[in-house]
Order: sequence, then C-alpha cells, then structure tokens
Amino acid sequence: MPSPEMSGVMGVTRAVDGGRVIRVGPEGIYDDATAANIIAHELTHARRYLRQGNFDGEVHGTADSLADGTPYGSGNALQDWIEGNR
Ligand SMILES: [Zn+2]
Repeated sequence: MPSPEMSGVMGVTRAVDGGRVIRVGPEGIYDDATAANIIAHELTHARRYLRQGNFDGEVHGTADSLADGTPYGSGNALQDWIEGNR
C-alpha cells in the first residue's frame, strides 16, 4: 500500500535522509519510462547531497530540460533514450 505522504508526489529526496534514500510515489511509476525518469531525477538530487551535504545552489531545471546536469535534465534524458528518441 502506498504511503499517504507520497500521494500526488512523483518522487522526493530529503535532507533528513542524508541523500541515501530516494522515494518514488505511485504516480512516479506510471510506466517504465516515467519510473526511470523519476529515479534519475531523484538520484541527481541524492548525488548532490552526498557530494556537498546540502542542496545549496542546486538548479532544478524544468520540464523542458534535457541532459543539462539538472535533476529534470537527467530524468528527461533517460526517459527520452528509453522512448527511442536518442
Ligand atoms: Zn526534484
């Protein structure tokens, strides 16, 4: 059963977990490409936290970001590849 705290949330990476836990919500596993996108997105957040101990200075990107090093750009690039566009 999905956690109520993840209702309506695609994914989240929290400072309280020290970058060692990523969470993916029910909407984030809609299909394989979406799940890959969300995991790559959250992993980018987690890697930043593990590198510097906070999320300071992080540029999140937008839904249009693609392979630009941002969380959105990382997730969208992987989804784009899975969908055969790269
Ligand atoms: Zn994010």
